[in-house]
Amino acid sequence: MKTVPHYIGGKRVEGTSGRSADVFNPATGEVQAQVPLASKSELDAAIENAKAAQPAWAAMNPQKRARVMMKFVDLLHRDMDKLAEALSAEHGKTFPDAKGDVIRGLEVAEFCIGAPHLLKGEFTEGAGSGIDIHSVRQPLGVCAGITPFNFPAMIPMWKFCPAIVCGNAFILKPSERDPSVPLMLAELMTEAGLPDGILNVVHGDKEAVDGILDHEDIMAVGFVGSTAIAEYVYTRGCAAGKRVQCFGGAKNHMIIMPDADMDQAVDALIGSGYGAAGERCMAISVAVPVGEETADKLVEKLAPRVESLKIAPYTAGDDVDFGPLVTQDAYNRVKGYVDAGVKEGASLVVDGRDFSLQGYEDGYFMGACLFDNVTKDMSIYKEEIFGPVLSTVRAKTYEEALDLAMSHEYGNGVAIFTRDGDTARDFSSRINIGMVGVNVPIPVPLAYYTFGGWKRSGFGDLNQHGPDAFRFYTRTKTVTSRWPSGTKEGAEFVIPTMN
Ligand code: NAD
Repeated sequence: MKTVPHYIGGKRVEGTSGRSADVFNPATGEVQAQVPLASKSELDAAIENAKAAQPAWAAMNPQKRARVMMKFVDLLHRDMDKLAEALSAEHGKTFPDAKGDVIRGLEVAEFCIGAPHLLKGEFTEGAGSGIDIHSVRQPLGVCAGITPFNFPAMIPMWKFCPAIVCGNAFILKPSERDPSVPLMLAELMTEAGLPDGILNVVHGDKEAVDGILDHEDIMAVGFVGSTAIAEYVYTRGCAAGKRVQCFGGAKNHMIIMPDADMDQAVDALIGSGYGAAGERCMAISVAVPVGEETADKLVEKLAPRVESLKIAPYTAGDDVDFGPLVTQDAYNRVKGYVDAGVKEGASLVVDGRDFSLQGYEDGYFMGACLFDNVTKDMSIYKEEIFGPVLSTVRAKTYEEALDLAMSHEYGNGVAIFTRDGDTARDFSSRINIGMVGVNVPIPVPLAYYTFGGWKRSGFGDLNQHGPDAFRFYTRTKTVTSRWPSGTKEGAEFVIPTMN
């Protein structure tokens, strides 16, 4: 049986804890690898290693650190197919979508090549008589990232690229469900010239996460995953005095105004609702048509499209729309929600629960489901399903639709489809959600902007990637200096002011 080892000090390291987890092939249900789950002492050894390596890396000039990122980008291009293949095999998403996962991470690595510019401080000459002030951004030391299964390339890169280029060492604790790509990425960083010990991959579960949160040498923690764990990591990490940012679950609404281009809206809902089997934190899971006529038209156009989606393993070709869910647990959870929706009285317009694929009967394939007449009190509306299930909530007016999205506990992404600029402007301005799309269904900001949800989709005050990442992974030091001018002054007993 293949094992996916840790990566510590620039080397693959087998686990010694005696604990491991199965890595499944989601298309067949077979166990395809074992991943070790680190003990606290294995984690401590990795942190010690990282701590020892960090000062020399921080002392290297930022241009040289940026060149490692430059080379890393080249290597990602070189190994794109290999990475995407490994990603699809463990996650189950289609091959083109797996490439997208790598590319969205690569774009952050590209942004990080600008580190020499992004790390520049400020300088004031002559702030007082003979006094200059300057500020610098210095790395924190050893930082850690805890990442989810659904973007096993992109999110680890969103974490370690900015942290490392700022001069930190990094411990990555990726999802134990699809651990191969994070390991491959770390090896590529070594090949790109990163010194040993600066990027370490430590696989594990709660024990490793708690070890990270309690360790005094971990200065900052970036987490992405479900909201319950995000809140736990945020609370425990902050209590231990660390800098922490945690990004959690979502329930993203798409409002369809009566004047929207209906074909465009349907295309958008199909891609953003069912792509990656709905296992995206920026998936649209709630369609909110405004007015009965809009709703009838929307559902009528959506239903045949949902029924004809091609669901298959990634090996079946690039025209597959989506693949299996990641695990049996995920399958059971999604199916449980669909059952609950029916019980609670929603109309199941397209029922994908009986979907089965010849030769893949033990895989975690769930057919696409479409609900109509969903209401605010139903669990399928309130909770994140994270599967190929789209709920339609009919709103009578624009204000009612706006209020729905605003009252939901999650605030990751939202979209509005309309031809009216005034409505779009009003919506973008008033909505209390972190990422907004206007006629764009999955408004994931590009690498040079920042990514982050509001409300219970995000904990902490800085976003991921973009300029915020450089703030999160550095701290500011401000130096006030005066050089002797030749005249010696006596001691001053009054607090200095700059008058
Ligand atoms: P998850 O919360 O189960 O796992 C995330 C990480 O936490 C993993 O590394 C896992 O090993 C660890 N973990 C799991 N249980 C833990 C526990 N009890 N104590 C400590 N650590 C624990 O999430 P997932 O299922 O891997 O990912 C899907 C979730 O992530 C969805 O809710 C999705 O919306 C969210 N997500 C959010 C964003 C965002 O940017 N907001 C992006 C991607 C995914």
